[in-house]
Amino acid sequence: MTDNPSFILRGINDVVFEQRPIPEISDDEVLVEVKKTGICGSDVHYMVAGRIGQFIVEKPMVLGHESSGIIAKVGPAVKDLKVGDRVAMEPGATCRKCDACKSGRYQLCPDIIFAATPPYDGTLARYYRIPADITYKLPDHLTLEDGAMMEPLSVAIHAVANVADFHANRSIVVFGAGPVGLLCMAVAKALGASRVVAVDIVQNRLDFAKNFAATDVYLPPPMEKDELRIRYSERNAKKLMTDLGIEERGPKGIDLVIDASGAEVSIQTGVLVAKIGGTFVQLGMGSPEVTLPITTMLTKELIWKSSFRYGPGDYPLAIALVSQGKIDLKPLVTHRYSFDQAVEAFQTTRQGKSTDGKGVIKAIISGPDVSPNAL
Ligand SMILES: [Zn+2]
Ligand SMILES: [Zn+2]
Repeated sequence: MTDNPSFILRGINDVVFEQRPIPEISDDEVLVEVKKTGICGSDVHYMVAGRIGQFIVEKPMVLGHESSGIIAKVGPAVKDLKVGDRVAMEPGATCRKCDACKSGRYQLCPDIIFAATPPYDGTLARYYRIPADITYKLPDHLTLEDGAMMEPLSVAIHAVANVADFHANRSIVVFGAGPVGLLCMAVAKALGASRVVAVDIVQNRLDFAKNFAATDVYLPPPMEKDELRIRYSERNAKKLMTDLGIEERGPKGIDLVIDASGAEVSIQTGVLVAKIGGTFVQLGMGSPEVTLPITTMLTKELIWKSSFRYGPGDYPLAIALVSQGKIDLKPLVTHRYSFDQAVEAFQTTRQGKSTDGKGVIKAIISGPDVSPNAL
């Protein structure tokens, strides 16, 4: 335990490898030697824009938050973990005292210390300190890559299983077939969905979704010149419903729509596609403001919900579903990089494909001195 190389964002498009002190842990924390970290859209966004909403990078920050690793040290009050355990790390430490924490929605804690959300450092370093109770031992048959993927899977579990309270024999449409959208489809399928419809503007992604978890796919038509977005969305919703035999109510209606794209026309189309009395969950972060057909939403008593990160029970359910073989995370990992190649990993994620033209779903960066091929 001698050094702590870290991948640090100093400013817009300004990243550097630097040594940081090895973190000191408190009694109820563990020190994890980070082995695998998935790159998320938010990490890339901080790199290219220096901010997400009100979160602004004002001082150098270690990137990365989708991680797994091996425990290097445990605090004296830690009971259930030991040195050498392979773990998934839930990257948000909360205060446990505020109203949100005490009411079981700790993702809304005002004092959350979330990895790689300014001003807090992330996990792309050799070591990361974390409270033991949000560090989960991985079953032996799961890989450390699976462990890193528990983070985006927990985002999907929170939206589908927790916020939307999805049940067996219900139908779902997911807008956006990126990693989180695909995982929402996988969660719905694992929970016994009757129908899982994937919507995306990229045919390759739909092909992937069809093989992965979707029962049906839909490619929206292009927008016409000078067409108002809301008019386009009405046309798009009508076509989607006709093409796939979806009705406004009854068993052929859509019980749940999840927007995992953040695009205004997807959100608009989604609220129009949801059945009368159905549920819509906003999950994707994109357009900060959108126009909504509010009267239509009212008259069909659409239930509008929003889903942010993950809360109590989401990580454990993610691990259970993968452990039981109900969700396979392996097809999602398309690119693997060593720690030294972190810049390349970010470029690939940003461009959506590597220089060889291969489309990226999830790129994983290994910890310092860990081979990208060691899963
Ligand atoms: Zn993420
Ligand atoms: Zn709190």
